[in-house]
Amino acid sequence: MTQVAAPRPRSVLTIAGSDSGGGAGIQADLKTFAAHGVHGLSALAALTAQHTRGVTAVHAPPIAFLRAQIDACFDDFDVRSVKIGMLATAEIVEAVADALALHPDIPVVLDPVMIATSGAKLLDDDALGALRTRMIPRAHVLTPNLPEAELLLGRDISAGADAEDALAALRALGAHGVLLKGGHLDEGDEVVDRYADADAQFAHRAPRLDIDGHGTGCTLSSAIAARLALGDDAAAACRAGIAYVHRAMRDAYRPGRSEVSVLGHL
Ligand code: PLP
Repeated sequence: MTQVAAPRPRSVLTIAGSDSGGGAGIQADLKTFAAHGVHGLSALAALTAQHTRGVTAVHAPPIAFLRAQIDACFDDFDVRSVKIGMLATAEIVEAVADALALHPDIPVVLDPVMIATSGAKLLDDDALGALRTRMIPRAHVLTPNLPEAELLLGRDISAGADAEDALAALRALGAHGVLLKGGHLDEGDEVVDRYADADAQFAHRAPRLDIDGHGTGCTLSSAIAARLALGDDAAAACRAGIAYVHRAMRDAYRPGRSEVSVLGHL
């Protein structure tokens, strides 16, 4: 009897940093992919020694090894989308951009990770230019928080109409769609996440959750990448990603000695 090969499952690749504490980075990404029913692939761009109180050390793998991880994933799996997180150095940004240039049709969700909530620096200052010119124009969805958006634009952003202007300025950097996360903006008891691309835009308002959560940005960008892999367009993927992070925040728990929570991925 001939056996019919089962179709390969949809895969999503995260190119990001490892968090030894299991709350952010690659570890959060893989949990998010699993919760969405897609196969998770990972290329480690940086390793952090980290717990709920902060980052104690950072190590970057050799560039050739990072490239080998990315190429190995594309060589074998049905990669439907890519999520990019912590890239640490300009050299890593360049290497990832070069590797992705071979796969121009795969949508990329770019979380422009720069500084952790704990204050730890996750991207060298001199890497900002490479991120702006080499990665952002390649992004299908760019997901900056407020401090990241301010560094990318070189100016302060305040709530309301100014945030709308910032969203337009961020789009002018070349990503297809931009989701400006509102968690760091002071808009009273609400968090307003703003999204825009050429065809769609929305402002998502939700009551602020009283949680000192770790890994929310990683989880959001991974959920968006998973939804893109499942067939959503960018705006729908962002809405679904926001809803997923809200559920994961409600299920958050405290695995370390600090008050910082890690999201729950059911
Ligand atoms: N560690 C790694 C490897 C990350 O990629 C990130 C954020 O993207 C963080 C830590 C910081 O996460 P948070 O700011 O949510 O604590």
